[in-house]
Amino acid sequence: MAYVIIAICFGISGGIVGRIKGSSFMLWFLISAAVPVFGLIAALAYRFDNQELRRQCPSCGRVTKIYDAVCTRCGAELDFPDVAVAPETFERTPARS
Ligand SMILES: [Zn+2]
Repeated sequence: MAYVIIAICFGISGGIVGRIKGSSFMLWFLISAAVPVFGLIAALAYRFDNQELRRQCPSCGRVTKIYDAVCTRCGAELDFPDVAVAPETFERTPARS
């Protein structure tokens, strides 16, 4: 019974960490509850997906993550770009006036 409580506690903390990092709460809740300690570590190590710099594919114009080597839409190989697109979180923050 104690294990169930521990698993749920880890599940919730893992879920919250995942949610903060722009991923799914349920996904990380399930991962952290299934493998308590490792799930939480994975959630903490998971990269801040919505804070990554982005870049635009020169072939199809799709905006992808800057670390993608191949375009997820058209499959074009991507060199590291000269110009990066601002992260999603940057765009969401309104400019102060
Ligand atoms: Zn493309």
